[in-house]
Order: sequence, then C-alpha cells, then structure tokens
Amino acid sequence: MNGIVVVGTGQAGFQLGASLRENGYAGPVTLVGEEPGLPYGRPPLSKAYMLGKTDAAGLRLRPEAYFAEHGLAVRAGERATAIDRPGRSLHLASGTALAYDHLVLATGARNRPLPVPGADLPGVHQLRDLAEADALKAALAEARNVAVVGAGFIGLEFAAVCAQKGLPVTVIEGLERPLARSVSPGMAALIEASHVAAGVRFLFGSAVAAIVGPGRARAVALADGREVAADLVLVGIGVVPNQELAVAAGLAVENGIAVDAMLATDDPAISAIGDCASFPSPHAAGARVRIESVQNAVDGARCVAARLAGRPAAFDAVPWFWSDQGPLKLQIAGLCQPHDLAVRRGDPEAGGVSVFCYRDGRLAGVESLNRPADHMIARRLLQAGRFPSPDEATDPGFDLKALAL
Ligand code: FAD
Repeated sequence: MNGIVVVGTGQAGFQLGASLRENGYAGPVTLVGEEPGLPYGRPPLSKAYMLGKTDAAGLRLRPEAYFAEHGLAVRAGERATAIDRPGRSLHLASGTALAYDHLVLATGARNRPLPVPGADLPGVHQLRDLAEADALKAALAEARNVAVVGAGFIGLEFAAVCAQKGLPVTVIEGLERPLARSVSPGMAALIEASHVAAGVRFLFGSAVAAIVGPGRARAVALADGREVAADLVLVGIGVVPNQELAVAAGLAVENGIAVDAMLATDDPAISAIGDCASFPSPHAAGARVRIESVQNAVDGARCVAARLAGRPAAFDAVPWFWSDQGPLKLQIAGLCQPHDLAVRRGDPEAGGVSVFCYRDGRLAGVESLNRPADHMIARRLLQAGRFPSPDEATDPGFDLKALAL
C-alpha cells in the first residue's frame, strides 16, 4: 500500500490528513509542502499577527506532536515538480519520487503580480505567507505613509491595521467601490464609510501606472498623472490558482483544477481541494466556482477524506466566509453574487446589519456586518433550503431563528 500523498501543507492539505485519520483511514499519509515548517493558518496574517496580537506559534494549526501521534508525515520545504500519472508517483524537486494510491492536490493560490514598472522595488509587498507577513510587519514598523493597491479583503484588512496604528493609508482601487466582486453595493458602502471614519483614504476608479523610486518605493503613480506618496505599498489584487502541476499532467483546468461534484479530477486517482480547485456548486445552481476561504478548504478536505475512507458523498457544504477589518466583522453565508434583490435587516447605526441577497426568487446568501447571530442562522437556513421572504427578512419582528430550527 502506497497510501495517500497530498501536495500542499496549507489549510486544505492539513485538514485532509487530519480528516483521513478521523475517518479511520489507516494507510500511510504524506503531506508535501514547499513552505518551511508545519501547517499554519493564513487569516491572522493580515489581522492579529500583523497587529502583534499573536505570534508564529499561535498560527499553527496543530502542535508538532500531533503529526507524529496521527501518523502524518510532513515533508516541509519540498516542492512537487511533476505527476507521473501512469506510474502513480509524485516527483519532488529533491529528486525523490513518492508512490501514491491516491494523490490530493491542495496547492492553493499565489498572489497576482502587479504588472507595472517599479513593482519590484524595495518597499513594495504582497501578503500570502508567513515570510511575506514578517517582511510586511517589519516594513510597517518603519513606515510613514502607506498605499494599498486593491480594495479587496486583504487590502482592507491591512488598511484597517494601518489605521489602528495611526498611519496615513490610501487605498487605490480600479473599480468604483471596495469589494466590488464580493459584496453587495449596499454592504460595500457601509464598509467604505467605516474605513473612512477610521481615517482611511480611498481613490476609486484609479489605475496604477507605476511605483516610483528611485531606489525604493516613494510614491504610487496613477494613470491620470496623480501621485500618492508612500514608502510602503501593499499590493492586494487577488490571486491565481496554483494549477501548473495539474496542467503539466494533462488534467483539465478551468479557473483552477477542474473537479467534479465529488472533488475528483478527470483522473480517478487524483482529487483537488481548496483555493486551487474549481467545482460545480449546488449553491451556485451547479455553476463552476473556485472559492478562496478557510471553510471551503476545510469542508472540501473533509469531503475527499470521507470518500477515500469509503464514504463517498457530493460536496454540498454551505460556503461561508469572514473578514475582520478594525471594528467590522463581516461574515458571508452562501454565494451572494450575482443577486437580483438585496434587502436589509437591522440597522448599522444600532450595531449591525445583514443584507439578504436573493437570486431568482431564492435566498442566495446573507452578508452580515457585526450581526454574528444572523450569520449562524443564515448558514442553517441555506443548509436546510429554507428562507424568509424579502418582507420577512426585513421585519425585525420576524423570528428567523424559528425558521432555521
Ligand atoms: P494554501 O493555504 O495557500 O496552501 C497551499 C500550500 O501549497 C502552500 O503552502 C503552498 O506553498 C503549497 N504548494 C503549492 N504548490 C506546491 C508544490 N508544487 N509543491 C509543494 N507545495 C506546494 N479566508 C477566510 O475564510 N477568512 C479570512 O479571514 C481569511 N483571511 C486571509 C488572510 C490572508 C492574509 C490570506 C493570504 C488568506 C486569507 N484567507 C481567509 C483565505 C484562506 O487562508 C485560504 O482560502 C486558505 O488558506 C486556502 O487553503 P489551501 O490549503 O487551499 O491553500
């Protein structure tokens, strides 16, 4: 028995190993990851870790002893370079080949580079892994003015950290609002207003033309001729899935490694999970989605582990997500985009608000800002396939919780 080999020691790769053991799988399990060290969680990198509220040990998904106790072999600092599908073996950069009965690709995603002159100057950062977080944190301690390119989740979380530290920060975004692809316009407006109140400056509809030196970043030049002074620039313009191993092995890709409803690739001996995989989602009317979230990595891993342990089932977990931005706790249940109707429950002035997003007459998802109870109920409703009408959703007297029971 060669057992199961996993490429990637991130959230999905780790969970696959852990869930295999929880499901009673007794064969060998090897996790191969090119990052040094044991699996850790990325979410705090742009939040608690950046604020110095937790250290590297606090990011670890499990203590070191766990891996030996559960028979999970971790080959850290090893890059997988090729898959020999007929021979069922994985080749590593070190020259080793690992034979497998089943291979799970959990290769995640990497930062999208900013394609402008000066993007490689000292002072320009991106944030995906611990090494980048350490470099950014060190730069933050010295920075006098910060520019963030991209008003996505990571850009906004980092802008909130800068504001909390009292640093001037400008967020430069090509579109007309923050989180344009991720949240409803109403929610985006609330989030923007909160950041502005905290001192964050936004420049929307602004394309970056160059990062200006000399020698190191001193400003961000915009296409319209303006310059934003910045000695620290964080580029947060999204990620691209790490699918090259799969492509070279002749596996289908479609905005990520293409898998079916069971998260299997077109080779029955290979599955793919987490940020690197695209799959048909029952929560998007069967459309193929690629989701970048802890929930998707964890639940996808659980789904594949159960299948490999003899209990196959389609992947139908309700997607959910969170983002902490200063005083804001944004939580999203379901897949809200696209939607054709959005209604509000609650009052942002009175503590919190949820936006119920409907598509084709059904609840597609719920965005909650500082209303965690709504979020938990929304997850249960979406799982059960029940939902309030738009009028019920907006009615503060309507008992949502009872509907979810
Ligand atoms: P990853 O965690 O990226 O792990 C993939 C691993 O595979 C990496 O270690 C990579 O080095 C390795 N790898 C790739 N190719 C190879 C190869 N050829 N050989 C060996 N190893 C390889 N999600 C939320 O839900 N909420 C949040 O608040 C949140 N905040 C975040 C903040 C930050 C700063 C970041 C970066 C992400 C955040 N996310 C958040 C997203 C979440 O962390 C990811 O969706 C999750 O980590 C995906 O897990 P994964 O295992 O698919 O990929």
